[in-house]
Amino acid sequence: MADVKRVLIVGGVAGGASTAARLRRLCEDAEIILFERGEHISFANCGLPYHIGNTIKERDRLLVQTPRQMSQRFRVDVRVRSDVLRIDRQNKTVAVRDLAAGREYAEPYDVLVLSPGAEPIRPPIPGAAAKRVFTLRSLTDMDAIKKIVDEETPARAVVVGGGYIGLEMTEALVERSVQVSLVELLPQVMGTVDPEMAFPLHQELSAHGVELLLDTSITGIQESGARMLDVHLSSGQTRQADIVVLAVGVRPEVQLARDAGLKIGDRGGIVVNGHMQTDDPSVYAVGDAVEVVDFVGGNPTLIPLAGPANRQGRIAADNISGRDSAYHSTQGTAICKVFNLAVATTGLNEKNLKRLGRRYEKVYVHPAHHAGYYPGASQMSLKLLFDPQDGKILGAQAIGESGVDKRIDVIAVAMRAGMTVQQLQDVELCYAPPFGSAKDPVNYAGFVASNVIAGDAAICHSEDVTTPPNGRMLIDVRTPAEVKDGTIPGAVNIPLDEMRDRLCELPRDKEMLVFCQVGLRGYIACRILTQSGFKCRNLTGGYKTYCAVHGVRGKAAAPAHEIKSDAGEKA
Ligand code: FAD
Repeated sequence: MADVKRVLIVGGVAGGASTAARLRRLCEDAEIILFERGEHISFANCGLPYHIGNTIKERDRLLVQTPRQMSQRFRVDVRVRSDVLRIDRQNKTVAVRDLAAGREYAEPYDVLVLSPGAEPIRPPIPGAAAKRVFTLRSLTDMDAIKKIVDEETPARAVVVGGGYIGLEMTEALVERSVQVSLVELLPQVMGTVDPEMAFPLHQELSAHGVELLLDTSITGIQESGARMLDVHLSSGQTRQADIVVLAVGVRPEVQLARDAGLKIGDRGGIVVNGHMQTDDPSVYAVGDAVEVVDFVGGNPTLIPLAGPANRQGRIAADNISGRDSAYHSTQGTAICKVFNLAVATTGLNEKNLKRLGRRYEKVYVHPAHHAGYYPGASQMSLKLLFDPQDGKILGAQAIGESGVDKRIDVIAVAMRAGMTVQQLQDVELCYAPPFGSAKDPVNYAGFVASNVIAGDAAICHSEDVTTPPNGRMLIDVRTPAEVKDGTIPGAVNIPLDEMRDRLCELPRDKEMLVFCQVGLRGYIACRILTQSGFKCRNLTGGYKTYCAVHGVRGKAAAPAHEIKSDAGEKA
């Protein structure tokens, strides 16, 4: 056990409070002082949108630990409204401004831990700092937004940014009967998943009356009257709003570290080693402010999430107290609720794999979240990204009404354990009809990916399906009733059950691209065709994925809760 004397911690929420609590549990003798610029420590930032939306009714529920509880239980000297202004590394002191008393003082340290988090970005446009234009990070931000929503019952809001905070705020405001325009610079919301996986979210938002303005940015905000704002858009249009919420991303708060000469990485975060130590061995840093190693890519990156911040706090405390603990990497496992849907991801998405030039293959499955015959089954979409040579899992994304968290969590653990898609076939998950299927969606995705690697099922992707099919034959193996609701232009309909009898209709000099609704009947058709000497590939994810990729709105691409499970294609 190291001789720990005086530990100062900057930032009293996720990473900072975790460090303090763990350190006390390990070192009864250390003197621990926790500085927090705001009024609260250890509050649930992740719960802020849900209090605005009135899902979490009591504000106090967001206060995980008060300064008093923290000091009583852990004997931590908690100093709120205390802004740490400077670090003097040579003399090992920090300069602190007591915001309540308006005085400045120095505090010496043996070890310093920085957990200052990340600050919301305000885009450099006219009016971004106007009254009634908010960002959401602290309880104070939340209180200000909630006060307007509670007291003024605003009619309209503009939310800028379709990441998880923008989406959660959109939902919260709609829950409070505010008409929301959601403005997003990219052609998709939830940029951490691939566009086709975000597509159902667009439909879900529209179904809840949200005006979704994609490929759009805001160019300026003007106050028009005491309580109204004009929000100018890159499209040339204007939207009137009672409030604007800016949720365009966060940037690590590194000024303190930068001024102290600590190493800042290319991505803009504090550089730390596996022990969460900066390039000064007496200074540790954790949470949103630090660069982490991407689990799949191995590159330095910024992944601001609560789980990593809490774990890093624990690891810093371990090392300060003389243990040898290492933080290895961040996977980016995350989930977001958008009305009736949940979207979740782990590992790298396809956009990032392409950017990194990594070899990958992908499959899509659309199974029911539990046995289809048990009431309440809903369909989910699961995308699995893997190395086509060694089967290593590179990432997964899922969207649906239920069961999405379980599948992505299982795959996240499999990735940590270094498992392959072939090994996903063997994972034994709990099953009874109300909870899952004998072949769980995770097994099912493993079967499909393993078939691809084994060469049992050649696949093609929606992007490969051109109209006209350019020397290929496109075959829709669904029933005529299904085809009536929409199909891929240029496709010939040969229902699966007629395939063996109609092989004579098919040209032997063309490649067959076969598709069904979600991929299972297409696979069976492909097996028939391949064994009959035809060259054939199955469209992974079927017509449902095709619709999501091409933005086709219709029955097949409707939100999951509107889709009846396809009796022919249960997992
Ligand atoms: P923070 O928790 O932000 O704490 C940093 C603290 O340091 C701040 O309170 C700040 O005031 C203080 N500080 C900064 N500089 C100084 C200084 N110089 N002196 C004194 N004090 C200072 N993550 C998820 O994984 N899931 C979610 O669902 C989720 N939802 C979120 C919803 C919202 C609205 C927000 C804002 C964040 C959400 N997050 C979520 C992100 C998660 O909250 C952060 O990743 C996590 O809190 C980071 O912890 P941290 O300790 O690095 O920073």
